[in-house]
Amino acid sequence: MNTTHPFYLHFEKIYGARWPRLFEALQHKEQQVARKNILSASDDSSKNWSSFEVKPELPNCYWLPESGSVQPERNADELLDVYVMDPASVMVARALDVQEGDRVLDMCAAPGGKSLVMIEALKNDGEIFCNDLSPERRERLKKVIQQYVPRDIRDRVWVTGKDGVQFGLKEAESFDRILLDAPCSGERHILENPTAQSEWSPRRTEHLATRQYSLLAAALLAVKSGGRIVYSTCSISPEENDEVIRKLLKKKKTVVKLVEASPGIGGERTEFGVAYLPDRCGFGPLYFAVIEKT
Ligand code: SAM
Repeated sequence: MNTTHPFYLHFEKIYGARWPRLFEALQHKEQQVARKNILSASDDSSKNWSSFEVKPELPNCYWLPESGSVQPERNADELLDVYVMDPASVMVARALDVQEGDRVLDMCAAPGGKSLVMIEALKNDGEIFCNDLSPERRERLKKVIQQYVPRDIRDRVWVTGKDGVQFGLKEAESFDRILLDAPCSGERHILENPTAQSEWSPRRTEHLATRQYSLLAAALLAVKSGGRIVYSTCSISPEENDEVIRKLLKKKKTVVKLVEASPGIGGERTEFGVAYLPDRCGFGPLYFAVIEKT
């Protein structure tokens, strides 16, 4: 993409002097972690974990070197030993603060990396609904759950295929925790894909922001009073991030409270949430905000 492309000019206006480096960083492979599958009863992986860096804030996550990757392998119990993901995704899922016994909804769950983090947090009690509208992506989600979650725990994991907005009407006040990892522009993907670049326009972002708001308003109906929602996207567009939260705080001010989110490793505070941007932290982009229903 050259520097006269409308996409480039659009984000140059938003990010100013920071944009050339962010643009560059979005085109490099992001830092990833191999997250150990602690649901697997056997720890017979042949991998030499001592050669990977571990940070105390993200237990069981092995930071992969820039050029390296790891191949998941089966443990003796047939479950895969690691799930490779963006460290920001782990932090987003943890921000939901799932507790043992919770009833959880992962509204847009496929392929399921964040669901796995939440399934672990449920420990011995509670249930999770992993929902995704796309049948193809749902198949991948089911496979991930089969590959990583032991059979007895799978009895408390439900895969559903609804449009997320339906939860608002049909399941009001029913969940303790909801993750809305919303469909978004995904600018990293756009930069990898010439067709997506030619289709890009600011109108698309506006359209997505409207959809994201509808899903978030539905999540607000579906969560119990006192319950928590994490809203996240992998977009760098403020319209899909803080502006969606601003609209919710304005329109539903009598029932929502913003919870201060911890930036964790490499996060930057935004007006309402936290952003992980690859020019500063080497991973992401990912944005999240935490909301409580009062
Ligand atoms: N949370 C996932 C993870 O960490 O692996 C990634 C989710 S991805 C950002 C967004 C997902 O939303 C896509 O899988 C897409 O199929 C799904 N989706 C799009 N529109 C939806 C809707 N209206 N209701 C439910 N899911 C939807």
